[in-house]
Amino acid sequence: MSAREEVMDLVGQIKRQLINSQEIGLDAPFLSTARLNYLKKERQLEIAPLVEELYFNSLEELEDYISDCDRCKLSRERKNTVFGEGLADARLVFVGEAPGLEEDLTGKPFVGLAGKLLTDIIKAMGLTREEVYICNIVKCHPPHNRDPEPDETGMCLPFLKAQISLIRPEIICTLGRISAQSLVKKDFKITRDRGQWHSFMGTPLIPTYHPAYLLRYPQAKRDVWEDMQQIMQKLGLKDPRGVRD
Ligand code: URA
Repeated sequence: MSAREEVMDLVGQIKRQLINSQEIGLDAPFLSTARLNYLKKERQLEIAPLVEELYFNSLEELEDYISDCDRCKLSRERKNTVFGEGLADARLVFVGEAPGLEEDLTGKPFVGLAGKLLTDIIKAMGLTREEVYICNIVKCHPPHNRDPEPDETGMCLPFLKAQISLIRPEIICTLGRISAQSLVKKDFKITRDRGQWHSFMGTPLIPTYHPAYLLRYPQAKRDVWEDMQQIMQKLGLKDPRGVRD
């Protein structure tokens, strides 16, 4: 067992102990009821790595595990799971909503028209797709491109968490409403709340518009560029469009 696995195992044991103590009526004086309820909720939501005692040492292992997932109804109609791609220790992770039709066919994230625009945005930041990491909240294509439903995002979220904990990025950028509602807050309103910094698993997170929205409303590109500039500033990247001195 690696040191990381041992620590995760210990944390898992402590969590289970605390929950079990509460369930049989014992006091856990050093934890508030709110914290215990949170742990209980987390026990229902978390699949990996704590609750089912699954440990992933690499993104490849996790991808392999997910590839035949049938935890939710999205698995019935998908052609491929779309795990994500990019640098395994990327400084920046983009999180979209769900694979579209082309992504379902290829198994790659953001390869359609919206993906091409995302690639252009990344290039405008002075980066390449290979230098960042791109993934989605849910790993399977929802039929007819409908929004993923709460049970589906709930089932898939632990996989994204496992992905984030393996990559350990400096910044997460969510694309569109669904991913911000999943990672920031349920009532997140993209037109009102984008461009503000939040935190997810201790990592700074900034939500911006989805590139598919920009295809319909190109005037929003200005806002997205402002958000990208905030990211570039945090990462210490020079604006390649800026005037040189
Ligand atoms: N839209 C998304 O949110 N993700 C993809 O991978 C493709 C389109």
